[in-house]
Amino acid sequence: MFEFAEPATLDESLTLVRSQIRRFVEERISPQAEAWEQSGEIPREIFRELGRLGLLGMRHPIEYGGGGLGALSSVILAEELSRSSFGGVASALTVHSDMSISHIAHRGTPEQKARYLPPACAGEKVGAICVTEPDAGSDVAGLKTRATRTEKGWLINGSKTFITNGALGDIYIVAARTDPQARGARGVSLFVVERGAEGFAISGKLSKHGWRSSDTATLFFEDMLVPHDALLGEEGRGFYYIVSTFQNERLVIGGLVSGACAKAIDLTLDYLRQRKAFGKTLWEQPVVRNKLAWMGAKAAGVRALTYQCAQMVDEGRDVVRELSMLKALAGETLQEVVHTCLQLHGGVGYMIGTPIERMARDARFLTIGGGATEVMLEEVAKRL
Ligand SMILES: Cc1cc2nc3c(=O)[nH]c(=O)nc-3n(C[C@H](O)[C@H](O)[C@H](O)COP(=O)(O)OP(=O)(O)OC[C@H]3O[C@@H](n4cnc5c(N)ncnc54)[C@H](O)[C@@H]3O)c2cc1C
Repeated sequence: MFEFAEPATLDESLTLVRSQIRRFVEERISPQAEAWEQSGEIPREIFRELGRLGLLGMRHPIEYGGGGLGALSSVILAEELSRSSFGGVASALTVHSDMSISHIAHRGTPEQKARYLPPACAGEKVGAICVTEPDAGSDVAGLKTRATRTEKGWLINGSKTFITNGALGDIYIVAARTDPQARGARGVSLFVVERGAEGFAISGKLSKHGWRSSDTATLFFEDMLVPHDALLGEEGRGFYYIVSTFQNERLVIGGLVSGACAKAIDLTLDYLRQRKAFGKTLWEQPVVRNKLAWMGAKAAGVRALTYQCAQMVDEGRDVVRELSMLKALAGETLQEVVHTCLQLHGGVGYMIGTPIERMARDARFLTIGGGATEVMLEEVAKRL
């Protein structure tokens, strides 16, 4: 089995967390996830079970049901879920634990934290982050969804698309423009919207190239009224909140990629050791094994940068340049790893239903989402 070397500094509690998640993946995810690829969603029970094990809110405050752990706990969760080989499962669960609810943990009032964090950490309620719009993806500042303060509360109009956990979510963190005069990044605020709010409609699940076990939907807000206290953090600061949580998303993507690379290499090692051609196993062909060794080296590089970034995050350092490097490097490396591994599987790798074929489809999104490679490299270039 291909394993990365563990850093000497990894403490005992995180080693335990890793083995707990790995066992959960083996027992509860791997045997069933193919069925979730077909249904396009993960059963709620999986969220609840992970919640009961304390694995969904590891970074969130202990007093609200979280684990109070550092950034590496998010990385380990992402790595181990991703090692399942089901990118959709890993994305749905990490969007919940590390990309949506985190906004409440970071900026919620004590009342908002008390209302939303305990059920989210317990996996009873599922979170979604709603930023992208039909005309605003990489360019978040272009978003047009509008929130207007009225006597009864905030009136929200607009739509969001490609939202992970969009169809099955309960707690939606929605970005909307509260100051129509302000240009670009200014005048955007965040709101916590609950499923069932009047004027809130959800499309059917969108059909995707990969990540098929995660549900993805378009959301519509038509004169949706939410209470005044649905505002998250300060009015007009939403863009900065989104950008700062994106940093965590990039770290988690480092973990998702590390786990996926390790799994793809693992699957390929197994295959090459048993597949015979030209009188010996493929593993005995130096050209073949060197290729896999090269993929292992690249994956280990991504993993090392991920762990370095996690440490920098915990030290409170400015890590925007390193996380942008990580996101670009991780997304692109994963493409190379899964495609090399698929190549080494031969025709079998091209067949629907083989893990490597699914992993190649799942991987594709990771040069686009969480900051497209080009956008990330521009962030790096600005800081060189
Ligand atoms: C499966 C899936 C799940 C998603 N989940 C969520 C979610 O939970 N919440 C959410 O808010 N959004 C979500 N998204 C949306 C995702 O964040 C966007 O797709 C992503 O930000 C890219 O935006 P876009 O699709 O509008 O592409 P565009 O912004 O139109 O960009 C298209 C391409 O142009 C290039 N490009 C863009 N900008 C630049 C630039 N400045 N310089 C050079 N090249 C550039 C890149 O190659 C990019 O891929 C999801 C999308 C998918 C497909």
